[in-house]
Amino acid sequence: MLYRSLNKKSELVDFEKAIKLGLASDGGLFFPNTISHINKDFIESIENYSNIEIAYQVLKQFVGNTISELDLKNILKNTIDFDFPLVQLEENIFSLELYHGPTLAFKDVGARFMANCLGYYNQNMSKLTTVLVATSGDTGAAVANGFLGVKGTKVVILYPKNKVSEIQERQLTTNKKNITALRVKGTFDDCQKMVKKAFNDKELNDKFNLTSANSINVARWLPQSLYYFYAYKKLKIKNLVFSIPSGNFGNICAGIIAKELGLPIKHFIASTNINDTIPRYFKNGVLEPNKTIATISNAMDVSNPSNFIRILEVFKNFKNLKKNMSSYSFNDNETLDLIKKIYNSKQYVLDPHGAVGLLGLNKYLKINSKNTGVFLETAHPIKFSKHIEKCLGIKLNTPNKIKKILDNKKEFIDIDNYEKFKKTLLNFG
Ligand SMILES: *Cc1c(COP(=O)(O)O)cnc(C)c1O
Repeated sequence: MLYRSLNKKSELVDFEKAIKLGLASDGGLFFPNTISHINKDFIESIENYSNIEIAYQVLKQFVGNTISELDLKNILKNTIDFDFPLVQLEENIFSLELYHGPTLAFKDVGARFMANCLGYYNQNMSKLTTVLVATSGDTGAAVANGFLGVKGTKVVILYPKNKVSEIQERQLTTNKKNITALRVKGTFDDCQKMVKKAFNDKELNDKFNLTSANSINVARWLPQSLYYFYAYKKLKIKNLVFSIPSGNFGNICAGIIAKELGLPIKHFIASTNINDTIPRYFKNGVLEPNKTIATISNAMDVSNPSNFIRILEVFKNFKNLKKNMSSYSFNDNETLDLIKKIYNSKQYVLDPHGAVGLLGLNKYLKINSKNTGVFLETAHPIKFSKHIEKCLGIKLNTPNKIKKILDNKKEFIDIDNYEKFKKTLLNFG
């Protein structure tokens, strides 16, 4: 299978090329040129297969012949060595916990898959691949962890100053080895702009093999479709709807790909915080990003979601989009109220992102009560302990994975503008 550019002005490339380039040469996002249904019998008997076998069946067409079956299965074993529990909260409401990976973020799966694939392709290469990643918090941590020590790669993380949590900042800045953290004056969108600009910068491209590890990269984005298969494996139920707390809209778009592969999903709900570009689009059909506003669900503080164009590519027109998907936005007060309510009634601790997901699911199920809903719990509550502990009046236990890094010294370089960013990169030599 090959990938086309959504700007339609460059040629088809295979998976290896698409990973290494990140963006197509015409500046467009890559998109699978064809998507074939997975064997129906496989989906109908999915509970008989291991998570690795499911991952192989789902991802093999996207990888094509660039990695052999045995090597791909090994990569998947290294990627998916943790569980994805489904916790029932109501008769027809489930939380899909995606935060049991090494950095407690759902992005661990995509980041580890991408790192393993690049390591595989780079086995015999002399020139380093420099991975640029803009993060609003969790991406950078997952990417740093996935790439730490991976041969032939150097990772540069850009994160917005004062806009990530203390734990997230430790995860970003204490890795050493082939990982460098840049603390940017500005918002996540500013970080993302710098990364995009670097990809179009001839001087940088002549000197480095640049790629991105944001969800615009197909290797980060596509493996996220596995979550939907793993939820279905446990539920095996019709009329399944998913609510996805969304920022850059990569995760939800991977769910839409799962449906394109033949997984029986009835509807998608894109739940956002008050950065509500997409919910407004659903109301009036106008895509009009506002200035990004900081919220307690900071990984979703995005006002110009990169992956939305991929969703439009699948659904083709506004009518079809609205048939398959709804989108709602919620503010921090609504989010905190729900966290309190669910803790008091179920003793279940939501993180702010999962809470936004559940708010969207509740809203949808109010008018579509016959459905079963799964919301994606995308981060461990401990990462947002400041808000959660204040809201609930309890002290959260710190997982060992986090305890280990809390005393490590933060190391970063301050960046105020693109020129400083570029100079810093060039200095890496
Ligand atoms: C990245 C992230 C999101 C948003 O995912 P997108 O794919 O960007 O829509 C939601 N929650 C958490 C905790 C995240 O880290």
